[in-house]
Amino acid sequence: MEIITSNMRNVVADDGTVLWQCALCQKIVKSKNHLREHIEGQHLNVTYPCSECDKTLCSRGALRMHIHRNHKKVNCLSPTL
Ligand SMILES: [Zn+2]
Ligand SMILES: [Zn+2]
Repeated sequence: MEIITSNMRNVVADDGTVLWQCALCQKIVKSKNHLREHIEGQHLNVTYPCSECDKTLCSRGALRMHIHRNHKKVNCLSPTL
């Protein structure tokens, strides 16, 4: 969605770290994905319905966390042995 990328701004911190800022509310986050999720959830009201139950989450990250906690279907987080 172009409305998302058009509201994403790069900001450079004092130590040279590149951060991402939401142009709609000036919130600054550390990663592009976090900012995308922030804009989708906070400003566009994009929701992510869980495929396992009736719950609807406000971000991809929250949905992933919800599935991991409630349905235990995510295996890619297992530590390598
Ligand atoms: Zn924002
Ligand atoms: Zn669920």
